[in-house]
Amino acid sequence: MNVRILIAGATTLLLAACASTQTGAPAPTSLVAEEPPHTKPEIGLFGFDVGGMDRSVAPGDDFVRYAVGKWLDTTEIPPDRSSLGSVAVIKEKASVRVRGIVEEAAEAHAPEGSDTRKIGDYFLTFMDEARIEHLGGSPLKPELDAIAAIKTRKDLSAALGASIRSDVDVLNLGNFYTSHIMGLSVAEDLDDSTQYRPYLLQGGLGMPDREYYLGSSPRYIELRAKYEAHIANMLRLAGFTGPEDRARRVMALEMMIAKVHVSVADTNDVSKGNTVWLRSELAAKAPGLDWAAFLTAAGINGQPRFGAWQPTALVGISKLTATEPLEAWKDYLAFHTIEDAAPLLSQSFVDEQFAFNSKAVSGTPQQSERWKRAVNYTSDALGEAIGKIYVEKYFSPAAKARVEEMANNVLKAFAARLDRLDWLGPETKAQAKRKLANFRVMVGYPDKWRDYSALQVVRGDAYGNWQRAGLFEYRRNVAKLGRPVDRGEWFMTPQTVNALFAPCQNSVTLPAAILAPTFFDPNADTAVNYGALGAGLGHEVSHGFDDNGALFDANGNLKNWWTKADMDHFKAEANKLADQYSAYEPLPGLHINGQQTSAENIADVAGLATAWDAYQLSLQGQPSPVIDGFTAEQRFFLGFAQNYRTKFREAALRRQIVTDILAPAPYRALTVRNLDAWYSTFDVKPGQRLYLAPPERVKIW
Ligand SMILES: [Zn+2]
Repeated sequence: MNVRILIAGATTLLLAACASTQTGAPAPTSLVAEEPPHTKPEIGLFGFDVGGMDRSVAPGDDFVRYAVGKWLDTTEIPPDRSSLGSVAVIKEKASVRVRGIVEEAAEAHAPEGSDTRKIGDYFLTFMDEARIEHLGGSPLKPELDAIAAIKTRKDLSAALGASIRSDVDVLNLGNFYTSHIMGLSVAEDLDDSTQYRPYLLQGGLGMPDREYYLGSSPRYIELRAKYEAHIANMLRLAGFTGPEDRARRVMALEMMIAKVHVSVADTNDVSKGNTVWLRSELAAKAPGLDWAAFLTAAGINGQPRFGAWQPTALVGISKLTATEPLEAWKDYLAFHTIEDAAPLLSQSFVDEQFAFNSKAVSGTPQQSERWKRAVNYTSDALGEAIGKIYVEKYFSPAAKARVEEMANNVLKAFAARLDRLDWLGPETKAQAKRKLANFRVMVGYPDKWRDYSALQVVRGDAYGNWQRAGLFEYRRNVAKLGRPVDRGEWFMTPQTVNALFAPCQNSVTLPAAILAPTFFDPNADTAVNYGALGAGLGHEVSHGFDDNGALFDANGNLKNWWTKADMDHFKAEANKLADQYSAYEPLPGLHINGQQTSAENIADVAGLATAWDAYQLSLQGQPSPVIDGFTAEQRFFLGFAQNYRTKFREAALRRQIVTDILAPAPYRALTVRNLDAWYSTFDVKPGQRLYLAPPERVKIW
């Protein structure tokens, strides 16, 4: 299974969280017109949408209707989507641009060895269906032969070690799933963020999680039967005899692996991931695996210490490698080798892989077009090479400078707010100030681009290209071990429509592609940009200082720096805000869950308040202009509300209310009720529906 960064449901995803209703949805097909190649798109579709407002209602009665009422009336949700908001439009636009870059590279006849040539060759090779069809399953032969030649437990340990990749990321992206027996995440040492630590994670399941193996609902029981049939089908396609018997063995083995896995909730809990095992202790701590053979094959046998993210699972997996029959393990390795490679092989493999992993597991009705898959795989292999071209074409130095200036003002404004806080104790406040001083906002693209010269891309070898790209990324991560932590490293590509808060780096990453309307518009006026992007930035910064941020100190180490009194006050104010949100009833009988959405709602209040101050700072005492008949203060709040304009189908709205940690976007826009400035700006009076008396307005930061 190939895990994509683009739509990861990570705990650390930030603005992306604002986009969570789109997560996992099929890519829309009709939201933006395709750009003709070689032309720059027009910017400024948004800025400030006066036409989308409904000025017949009073802002104090229904601010969302006032800000986006006509947009709601006139916008149609495309038939292939369950909701429509800004992020869907931005994503579609970015994906059209990336396609253009990849296709241009394919036509460029760039010099051998150049990044452009590699992008083009990777894409063209993936698109060469005739050759891929001709090759069938033959590219797998060397690997399957090597698995067949396994004779001893030592051989098995080496084969398992050779299979692991850096396809998990514990601290930054929050990717915890790998189908390989274990995953390696090279990330900051939780006790010393200046050093890297190699974290080993549980893996080895072909289905997404242990629940799929152990759950008793009819849905899981049905999926397990389908999975076993799928394993047999894959083995049959690759020419194995007795595929049903082999599938039974593989399934039995995965059931045992599932039993030793820890739950998603525990896996996501960073405070449970801080176990260190010395290299010298591994055989005693987790007996079974031939650790020397495993780590040597993985290229990390020289490491003195390892992080054991889920220690009990690693113990259980290690034991199984010694107790379960070698033949079962060989079938298991063969199946996973085929399964991982299937998207790069001939159509029968592609179809079988899709039928189970996408259709049966996720309910995706239709395979996306081949060019889309080709673009995605090329982006996975050569992300920053594509990103470099992306920013040259679509993200100007002026836009970067403007966002950096906004970020500076947001950080300054947050510092001033910390100074004014009366509830944080003096020592905690001093710690918070130190943490803020270390905070960084990385805008658009990395200062240093990744060097792809060691990655070989061969025309006509789709499977080999994919394999080499996975190994290239693995070796890049292993090479970090023993070197000082690179605080400028990017964990997302510039063309990713997402944003990231990295708790150990103490940084927020804003890729170029998210810096588009309605988050940010280089042509929009400052007030609108502060209301939209500024509030989003303030939201992210505040996460470094909330009850989750309290876990990581000023240096990014896992060390709680709050006192109990600080935490008690924070929780009391948080409860007040939770009550405010729980009173909202988006669907008859269905209220927002104020506790479930609490952390994000707090960040929204903090973000909006901070952005307001930052906007005042940006004026440097100059008066702000009136545009389109609106004062700057009005445009600030309208920019904020319009950034959250979203239209839902009822089922999607219901699902978000029940499952999401974010309140539905229109209710996030109602954050304005907690800002005194909103009342004076729109002359909101007692008796109006959204009015809150001053003591009811929540102020945490
Ligand atoms: Zn958030």
